[in-house]
Amino acid sequence: MKVPFLDLKTPHQELEADLEAAFKRVLNSGWYILGKEVETFEAEFAEYCSVAHCVGIGNGLDAIHLLLLAYGIGQGDEVIVPANTFIATWLAVTYCGATPVPVEPDSATYNIDPLAIESAITARTAAIIPVHLYGQPADMDAINLIAQKHGLVVIEDAAQAQGARYRGHSACSLGNAATTSFYPAKNLGALGDGGAVLTNDNAVADKVRQLRNYGSKVKYQHDLLGYNSRLDELQAAFLTIKLRRLNAWNERRAEIADYYADKLAGCGIKLPYVPLWANPVWHLYVVQAEKRDELQNFLHQRDIETMIHYPVPPHMQECYTSSTYQGLPVTERLSRQILSLPIYHSMTLSQADVVIDAVRSYFQS
Ligand SMILES: *Cc1c(COP(=O)(O)O)cnc(C)c1O
Repeated sequence: MKVPFLDLKTPHQELEADLEAAFKRVLNSGWYILGKEVETFEAEFAEYCSVAHCVGIGNGLDAIHLLLLAYGIGQGDEVIVPANTFIATWLAVTYCGATPVPVEPDSATYNIDPLAIESAITARTAAIIPVHLYGQPADMDAINLIAQKHGLVVIEDAAQAQGARYRGHSACSLGNAATTSFYPAKNLGALGDGGAVLTNDNAVADKVRQLRNYGSKVKYQHDLLGYNSRLDELQAAFLTIKLRRLNAWNERRAEIADYYADKLAGCGIKLPYVPLWANPVWHLYVVQAEKRDELQNFLHQRDIETMIHYPVPPHMQECYTSSTYQGLPVTERLSRQILSLPIYHSMTLSQADVVIDAVRSYFQS
């Protein structure tokens, strides 16, 4: 039995009739940018995240970029980012003219290590962007405490964590503001690109609304040097439908994660660690193995697709080689040892068994 890494088809087949009706509604409305569909989705997703404002953006990277601009972050500023993250978190900082300052992860949770943040703070530090990596919330109380002490803005990058909870509170409601992405493979994915900014801060929400739409509040009146980055009506209509399934789909991911944890315990790989205060949404199920490449090949030979998130950390990418980043040993070691096993709501337990049996037989051989 083949076990694909991802399945983007089944969720949309399950919702085919609703998605087609939404498509026809938008088609026949004659209105495709910044209309009722975006307003409806923004209201429902803000409520889902327990925040006052959701602003739909063209993608998750632009959401971080525009939010940093709304806070006035730019040239001369430093922004603390996880060393271990998708490169978008760093790029958004670079776009503003500010400098990303990487902080190592806790090697059990993979998230930014609060104990390592304080020594990275300088007089130029303006903000911290914790990422809820792989769907698990970062340790936000510890991060917020440091930020308050030093007067820093906290921006959650919740691209991988829609629906996750930290001490009972929703991801996207835990800092000054948050961003997310609706890239198709995320837990809440569109049928194309999309993103959002979430916040309780009225002024920040207003500024992001202006920045996403050519710096304009009133048509053809441009107060800011704005951008064009708007969630479109069609994607918003699809997302409203998919949002209603998000909790059920996340619960199913959690069942598979529990099943993996139970059946893979003690077999030789390092399993994900979940702190008591975290309710992760299992965007990815990441394990560690010393001979990772060998294990990955073994699984691929058995038709089991796996991936690595991420094989080359941002500070080692060609585009950042002109900046002199110190070695980041934890991040570099993780990039050699992590492996993402398949996990998605349409995965069957027999598919999970195929993965489990293969991993176990790798360690027995
Ligand atoms: C996907 C992702 C982004 C960027 O989202 P896009 O919509 O692809 O631009 C940002 N940060 C993290 C952690 C992500 O996983």
